[in-house]
Amino acid sequence: MAKNKTAITPTREQDYPEWYQQVVKAADLAENSPVRGCMVIKPWGYGIWENMQRDLDKMFKDTGHENAYFPLFIPKSFLEKEAEHVEGFAKECAVVTHHRLEPGPDGGLVPAGKLEEPLIVRPTSEMIIGSMFAKWVQSYRDLPLKINQWANVVRWELRTRLFLRTAEFLWQEGHTAHATKEEALEETRLMLDVYADFAENFMAMPVIKGEKTEGERFPGAEMTLSIEAMMQDRKALQAGTSHFLGQNFAKAQEISFQDSEGGESHAWTTSWGVSTRLVGALIMTHSDDDGLVLPPKLAPKHVVIIPVLKGDDTEQKVLDYCESLRSEIRELQYAGRPIECWIDKRDVRGKKWDHVKKGVPIRLEVGPRDIENDGVFMARRDQPKASGVSRSELLETLPDVLQQMQDGLFERALQMQKDNTKEFDNLDDFKKYFEGDKPSGFALCHFTDVPEMEEILKPLKVTPRCIPLADNDTPGKCIFTGADTNKRAIFAKAY
Ligand code: AMP
Repeated sequence: MAKNKTAITPTREQDYPEWYQQVVKAADLAENSPVRGCMVIKPWGYGIWENMQRDLDKMFKDTGHENAYFPLFIPKSFLEKEAEHVEGFAKECAVVTHHRLEPGPDGGLVPAGKLEEPLIVRPTSEMIIGSMFAKWVQSYRDLPLKINQWANVVRWELRTRLFLRTAEFLWQEGHTAHATKEEALEETRLMLDVYADFAENFMAMPVIKGEKTEGERFPGAEMTLSIEAMMQDRKALQAGTSHFLGQNFAKAQEISFQDSEGGESHAWTTSWGVSTRLVGALIMTHSDDDGLVLPPKLAPKHVVIIPVLKGDDTEQKVLDYCESLRSEIRELQYAGRPIECWIDKRDVRGKKWDHVKKGVPIRLEVGPRDIENDGVFMARRDQPKASGVSRSELLETLPDVLQQMQDGLFERALQMQKDNTKEFDNLDDFKKYFEGDKPSGFALCHFTDVPEMEEILKPLKVTPRCIPLADNDTPGKCIFTGADTNKRAIFAKAY
């Protein structure tokens, strides 16, 4: 590859959305399917999702949740029980109306066997899980109920983008029921903390924890909390949500229990979810103009060994050396699992670049001369220069090197977020910041949640992302109305 030429065209600077598509393609993560809006996740992309699942699943279990599974279909009447909820999702529902096909008049097949009640392919499972909670909860002794489901859901999105927004997506949805409001609120905040912890410590992606404004709330929720991350184009991405549902869903579904005094009460419920969107977030937070960059904790494989094969009698020696190195590396642990390592024996030119584009954290090249020195040539995906290192030093330092990469990626992303977050106390400066097509970053300003705000924001294509939970109680004036307020919100252009 010539100097200054990047492995991905266009670069981030030239055309960020197209760069994203090209990174996904070059790293072989996913591709569009024949079904509009639905993607095929390929092994390297699915490997990232599996790692996310494993680490999140552990965190859910450590906080007292259990996994279960519920039907893909929701009877239409169930969805209709909560008015706001159905209104919010109605426009995106895939509806099943028939249960078989029959030969039609022109040789094709036509749907037949009309269902008595249409079934909705779950866009989210509050209504089906709640209907079961209603059966399972009788007394205060049955609470809390803390269930998680790993599943696919369908929201008929019109503008889709690989991982970030697809019509069918993979996710987890937590659903809990509690005896008191305080407990349910505590759960809502706890799961937001779990998401923030995962984003920062596993994805190396700094996030802002906050509350959604009324207009951005989950349909039917009393409060929605979210984590918001800044992508490298300075747009915001909602990376996870945790909802306090009050008693709305419990009332709609009759989740009630006998309290300790013998009275009848409705439960307080929560729900929370993250999706395969997180893979998109990971790509957009760390990758560069040469392709994917992966935080080592979530990389499907950490190390690739590339034997330098010269087609002569040194070949077997080189391959044997690589095999023994691989077994020794596999015995090392990083972040609680073996360091995953494989040997790329393919006889193709330019294979180094395949691994660069796939974001493999560490590349080791081994040729006859390296063996003589009992060493390897090592390249880190986060550094431009490769260098020779002895085998013993490599084995001694590898877990630390991976952790350095993990920390370095987080620090870089955090710096980017800090450098592109500005505070504003007047509307003119705020507008100037957001004018033009290129996103400018996050704006933190005093605000009041009033309709005027939406009218000003709409032409700027800006939305309130969240009201940060941290240190958010300083007096000031709403930049939209001039009214006194103590609250500030983050505003940004968003995915
Ligand atoms: P919600 O149930 O709307 O709170 O969404 C839960 C999680 O799924 C959030 O983290 C969203 O960012 C994510 N999500 C929502 N819609 C989509 C979509 N079409 N594709 C991928 N992820 C999504």
